[in-house]
Amino acid sequence: TTALSIKQLSKAYNNGFQALKGIDLEVEEGDFFALLGPNGAGKSTTIGIICSLVRKTAGQVSVFGYDIDTDFSLAKKQIGIVPQEFNFPNFEQVFDILVNQAGYYGLTRKLAVERTEKYLKALGLWEKRFDTGRSLSGGMKRRLMIARALVHEPRLLILDEPSAGVDIEMRRSMWAFLKQLNDNGTTIILTTHYLEEAESLCRHIAIINHGEIAEHSSMKQLLSQL
Ligand code: ADP
Ligand code: ADP
Repeated sequence: TTALSIKQLSKAYNNGFQALKGIDLEVEEGDFFALLGPNGAGKSTTIGIICSLVRKTAGQVSVFGYDIDTDFSLAKKQIGIVPQEFNFPNFEQVFDILVNQAGYYGLTRKLAVERTEKYLKALGLWEKRFDTGRSLSGGMKRRLMIARALVHEPRLLILDEPSAGVDIEMRRSMWAFLKQLNDNGTTIILTTHYLEEAESLCRHIAIINHGEIAEHSSMKQLLSQL
């Protein structure tokens, strides 16, 4: 099964800047995939489009066979997104942030509460459940965003620069969590500008630069060329 299929994807922003110049990408179910590239390469634009947060100019994107235009709501259900930065509502508590998110996906109140408990515990945030999201440290905010992305148990988890602003110790435990999630069958795609991060986690990799895919291979193949 193909988890993600991108064909001839282009994006020109309103100011005329061509951020993506017709990229093709395929990610298989079960893969741990890195979209690697320098700042400004087009990584966030790409995942913004996959998650329907950014309008594409041309091309096709489908997630587990659901086209993001014609099967919008089914495509959306397959995806969990961990953005680079998130503005938590000012006074919302950690517990409510997750329950409300589950509500957006149509889960019953009972299931929403169960999932909230499950993922807050899995990410070591149970003790913080009555704190506001805003008050958490950088690493805890990231873990909260991961928990929030998982409450509807998507088949594809997408993380935009997950290590940005996370200290080294927190990074290691987050990586271990993601590895385990992937072992249990969740397809994961992350963007990064650190080769080390892609190397420790990912099986396949695409390198993007100036809105074009420069290289697309297995991590093993890529490392053997360096
Ligand atoms: P779209 O083409 O998807 O409608 P816009 O060109 O209208 O997007 O820009 C969306 C938002 O991104 C605007 O609010 C704009 O201020 C902001 N923006 C503009 N330039 C940049 C940039 N270089 N990086 C990030 N955001 C930007
Ligand atoms: P990356 O995630 O790889 O750092 P982005 O996808 O955020 O790259 O940005 C790709 C390019 O598009 C950058 O040059 C950025 O400045 C530009 N860009 C991003 N958002 C906007 C916007 N809303 N309007 C105009 N240009 C943008």
